Amino acid sequence: MTPTAPNPAYDPNNVFARILRGEIPCHKVYENDAALAFHDITSAAPVHVLVIPRGAYTDFHDFTRRATPEEIAKFWQAVDHVVQQENLLPAGFRLITNTGPDSGQEVPHFHVHLLGGEKLGPLLS
Ligand code: 5GP
Repeated sequence: MTPTAPNPAYDPNNVFARILRGEIPCHKVYENDAALAFHDITSAAPVHVLVIPRGAYTDFHDFTRRATPEEIAKFWQAVDHVVQQENLLPAGFRLITNTGPDSGQEVPHFHVHLLGGEKLGPLLS
């Protein structure tokens, strides 16, 4: 798969870029040729998996607007694989993506959080 040309705003040394290059280890759950899924280093729930595209996209908007339809499809197939086939989240999950200054996004490489493994509290409390 040929990734889209990098966004000039993309920091190639962000932590997820370094995980993709194998410079930082991760506890891998699943991968395909467009996405990688691994456990979050700081779990916010009993199961907390991050899914990231292999391409250099800063956030949800960047991914949605610039990724190819094949990349987008394979990314969401990876998310679906994690929740349906890895059997990590059999009773449901919460999917979150932080985007923009108000969200608190820390890592500037698009990612979704999959949270579950227990009955989660209300999203807003
Ligand atoms: P954000 O706030 O950007 O949506 O979430 C970034 C997530 O990346 C955080 O939940 C944080 O715990 C996780 N994270 C940061 N550095 C690492 C790392 O080196 N390895 C892993 N597996 N997760 C990380």
